[in-house]
Order: sequence, then C-alpha cells, then structure tokens
Amino acid sequence: MAVDSTLDADPSGVRDQLAEALGTDFFSVHDRFDPQQWETFMAVRRFVDHQVLPAAPAAWDAAEMSWDLIRQAADLGIVGDDVSSHGGAGLDPLTSGLVNMELARGDGSLAVFLVVHSGLAMKTIDELGSEEQKQRFLPPMARLETVGAFALTEPDHGSDSVALATTARRDGDHWVIDGAKRWIGNGSIAGRTIVWARDTSSEKVLGFVVDTSTPGYSASVIPRKGSMRSVWQADIELEGVRVPEADRLPGAQSFADTTRLLATTRGTCAWLALGHATAAYDAALRYALERHQFGRPLASFQIVQERLVRMLAELTGMQLYCMQIAHLAEEGRAGPTIAGLAKMNNTRKARWILSEARDLLGGNGILLDNHVMRHMADIESVHTFEGTETMQTLIVGREITGLSAFT
Ligand SMILES: Cc1cc2nc3c(=O)[nH]c(=O)nc-3n(C[C@H](O)[C@H](O)[C@H](O)COP(=O)(O)OP(=O)(O)OC[C@H]3O[C@@H](n4cnc5c(N)ncnc54)[C@H](O)[C@@H]3O)c2cc1C
Repeated sequence: MAVDSTLDADPSGVRDQLAEALGTDFFSVHDRFDPQQWETFMAVRRFVDHQVLPAAPAAWDAAEMSWDLIRQAADLGIVGDDVSSHGGAGLDPLTSGLVNMELARGDGSLAVFLVVHSGLAMKTIDELGSEEQKQRFLPPMARLETVGAFALTEPDHGSDSVALATTARRDGDHWVIDGAKRWIGNGSIAGRTIVWARDTSSEKVLGFVVDTSTPGYSASVIPRKGSMRSVWQADIELEGVRVPEADRLPGAQSFADTTRLLATTRGTCAWLALGHATAAYDAALRYALERHQFGRPLASFQIVQERLVRMLAELTGMQLYCMQIAHLAEEGRAGPTIAGLAKMNNTRKARWILSEARDLLGGNGILLDNHVMRHMADIESVHTFEGTETMQTLIVGREITGLSAFT
C-alpha cells in the first residue's frame, strides 16, 4: 500500500496542503519503531504538517528565520539531538534520524538550524569538552537561550578543510585566534561558535568554544542565497580573538577528532535528503491523482505511473539506507565511510526524485506555495555541505580500493 492514511490522521479533515505527509512506507519500515520512537516521530510530523508547512514558503521567499517555529520545535523536546546529559534531548539514532527527516520534509532551513545548533555545536562540546565545559555551555544551549555554531570551512578551504589556515597562538592562559571562516550556519546569531584553528606551535588542529561577543569576532550574513533561504550562514572574521585556555576543547587534539564528529552528521544528511525526497514524492503522487488532463487524472497515464513507481523505488531504497545506518549507529558501527555512502546515495537520489516531482507538477511545480521548488533548491545545500557528493565518493573509493584519489 503506497498511502497509509492512518499515519497522519488529520482531525480537521483539511487536506489543502500539497506537501502534507502521505505516510509513504512501502516496505513497512515504520513497523520497526518502538512506541517512544513512534510518539516522537508523530509529534514532529503533526508539527510539520500543521505549523511548518503553512509558514515555510513565505519565510523562504523573504529569507527570514522562523523564530516562532524554532521555539515551537524546542517545545517538542528535540533540542540537543543525541546529547543525553545537561538538558540535551538524548535521542537514540533512529529517533534522531526520524526527527531530522520530518523537519526537512517540512522546511530544510528549520532542520539545518537545529542540526547545526544540536548535532554540530552541542555535540562537539558533549564529545570533546571537559565535564566543567559541558556544565557551563550545554544547559543554556539545550534551552535555546544560547545558539550554537560550528566554524570549520574557510574561504580558501572547503573540501580540503584539513588544510585550514586559521591560527591559534598560545599567549599565557589565553589563545589568540586569527583567520576567516565561511558558510557558517548560525554564525551571525550564535552566542558560542566552535572554531577550529591550527596551533602555531604544534601545527595540530584544535577546537575552541568562542564567545561571539569577544572583541575581534565579527560575522556577516551571506546574502542572496538561492537555497536554504530561511537559515542564515555567515562569513566570520577572527582578528586577534582572545579565548581563555579554559574554553579550548581538551578532546580536540587533531583533525582526526574533527572528522570523527562529522561522521555522525553525514548520516544526518542522508536523513535530511530522505525528508526532502519524501516531500517531493508525496506532492507528486497527490498532484497526479488530483490534476486532470485529457479528461483523466494524470495518475491514470502509464508513463506517469511508471515515473511515480521509479520515484517510490528510489525513496524506499533511501529509507532502507537510513534505517540501517541508524541500527549501525546504535551499535557504534556507523563509521565515516558508511555514513558517507549513505549521504552520497541519498542526496543523489533526492535530487533526481525532486526533479521528477517538479516536472510532474507542470508549471505549478515552480511555485513556492507548492513546496517542491523550495525543496529542489534546498537539496542543493545538503548535496554540498558536510562534504560534497564527490568527496563522499572519493572517501568510499579510498576504502574499497585502498588508494586515495585526493591526498
Ligand atoms: C548552506 C550551507 C551551509 C553550510 N554550513 C556550514 C557550517 O555550519 N559550518 C561549516 O564549517 N561549513 C558549512 N558549510 C560549508 C560546506 O561544508 C562546504 O561548502 C563544503 O565542504 C564544500 O566546500 P566548498 O564550498 O569550498 O567547495 P570546494 O571544496 O571548492 O569544491 C568545489 C567543487 O570541487 C569538487 N572537488 C573538490 N575537491 C575535489 C577533488 N579532490 N576531486 C574532485 N572534485 C573535487 C567538489 O566536490 C565540488 O564539486 C555550509 C555550506 C553551505 C552551502
């Protein structure tokens, strides 16, 4: 059964949103959720269908952050992702994936805001910080009183961020940070930004929790984006920023510690891609059933059915990838190449499903109010950030051949 109407019972009976969930689950993966996973999944799904979808197109058009929705999302108890102490939500890997998938199904920008805040900034402190740092930084972040950012990418170092040029020089009980960062999600609104910088003495990459009110830290929003318009990325300048030694993350000893963190978020990207693709498939199926041409619903034509089935086949494969990376993560076995393969596969498939859906909606497919175009633009960011599709391919290629094509 392609459409499970029991999954998103709408008490009002109103179905005027093209992108509302159809509960697409052809291989019954939902049967494997436990009651708590199911409850969280459905709470986020209802929030997305009833609060996020009506607001997302206009916010995207105006490139405005949806603060009201961010606060409502926090009320769902999902801030902190898998961080399980100091106020974090402590979600298990499957619940975390489902939450990110559903948020992306509604609004990729909202999902990215929370992924950066929770999955990157809070998680870095949780994994690499001292107990004292966790106690100091995490509770206000879990309450969203302090927003977090994660600053790795630089103007001249994206895919090769291992070669980052930002420096940290020890000066007594402080470090002095100089450099520039680019594309930093939440960088202009964060209270704390995790900054990765190279120790001028050891050449190792270290991590710092930088108070953004420190003199020398300045951030400007990158304007006129055509993707993820409702979440802001920033250019950051760091000029003689003095950071106490107490705010250096003791667990960040080298770039290997940075990449270990990014393995989890690559898996998150696979879930985000699944959310965007699900929105596209659901909208295309609904539209094909409702739209008539030549006196019949579009869905009655063989070519349209074949296209919908191919979309469903890819979507189902993406769901199975996601379920399995969640189970491997549960067992501590979702390493960087496994997550990289899932990200590569799912973003590639999502881009294809989105382009099919866009076409099946005809001219209506380019209207923001019909959602598909917004998702089509947003998937471009997921395709690129946390390591591009090409870089994930090369990382997996290195593992299966034993030969590195890029170092
Ligand atoms: C919306 C958005 C949000 C982001 N948020 C953050 C954030 O919060 N924090 C952060 O630190 N960064 C963030 N980023 C940065 C992101 O991680 C980088 O954009 C990404 O790693 C790619 O780097 P680049 O843009 O410099 O592209 P480049 O590295 O310049 O790549 C350009 C092209 O060259 C290809 N390429 C590069 N090297 C090779 C090679 N060896 N062989 C073959 N092809 C190659 C790439 O695949 C790509 O197609 C964000 C980016 C975007 C767009």
